Amino acid sequence: MTEIIDGNAVAQSIRDDLATAIDQLAEEGVQPSLATVLMSDDPASETYVSMKQDDCAEVGIEAIDIEIDPDADASELYDAIDDLNGDENVNGILVQMPVPDHVSDREVLRAVDPVKDVDGFHPENVGRLVAGNARYKPCTPHGVQKLIEAAGVETEGADAVVVGRSDIVGKPMANLLVQKAPGGNATTTVCHSRTKDLAAKTRQADILVAAAGVPEMIDGGMIKEGATVIDVGINRVDADTEKGYELVGDVEFDSAKEKAGAITPVPGGVGPMTRAMLLYNTVKAAGLQHGVDVDLP
Ligand code: NAD
Repeated sequence: MTEIIDGNAVAQSIRDDLATAIDQLAEEGVQPSLATVLMSDDPASETYVSMKQDDCAEVGIEAIDIEIDPDADASELYDAIDDLNGDENVNGILVQMPVPDHVSDREVLRAVDPVKDVDGFHPENVGRLVAGNARYKPCTPHGVQKLIEAAGVETEGADAVVVGRSDIVGKPMANLLVQKAPGGNATTTVCHSRTKDLAAKTRQADILVAAAGVPEMIDGGMIKEGATVIDVGINRVDADTEKGYELVGDVEFDSAKEKAGAITPVPGGVGPMTRAMLLYNTVKAAGLQHGVDVDLP
């Protein structure tokens, strides 16, 4: 029987367990807080930000909502980030990407104080992750690591294949899997758009993480019998539904399920984990900034 890994359930258990750390902070008079900064009128970005704020409210993290006119000068965004960096009541800062074209996303990531960079995208935090001394693991790959652990799958010595090399998913994912640490120690291959004979690589994988953003590109024929398949992809495809579309992953679920030992669905797999791990990082940030040694799940 193939195990369907329930991301909603694993995310809920992480949120429940975070309550312990939040109580420990409360005993020291600290309420963790996350500032979300939105410089966009894209409805999808607005939805993401409001979901993150709702998630915060649910677990007792204060959410601070900063909105900047997308037509404003880039300096307005930098000034807002500076204010948040200097505000000791703010533990985490998340700038919702993408920012408008006239703003450099690279510069924005550098502007956030690395100690408040709960996305883990500041170069200092990227460097720490690569060096095996992560401060904040990026939310999506960290969530994937937690899903693999929850499925009872051993990464040590496993052949892991990551499809995708983006800075937010593929690269940090590979870095986590390769570390000499729990949830790592995998022999890790990174595939990307220039990889030759992708199927030959994915068929080697005991653990396959798909993060290419190409709808259903990985089918059962590309999967090793019994593999653990984690589908990060979230792709909108036209469909005869009320909204006119449906969400599918990078994995063709029905054929993949026949081969995999364990597999995540889309939706309900990695997505909820990304959201839960942002809360995790925010609570961790509050502990670090206030010198409270919190127990994290
Ligand atoms: P991206 O476009 O930045 O990167 C995609 C990567 O896939 C690139 O490195 C590219 O080289 C590789 N790629 C593209 N086509 C390929 C092919 N045919 N064969 C092999 N490799 C190929 O995307 P991203 O930001 O890393 O996101 C990837 C997917 O994950 C998207 O569907 C995105 O929506 C989704 N995503 C989901 C979550 C979540 O919480 N579940 C979070 C972030 C991203």
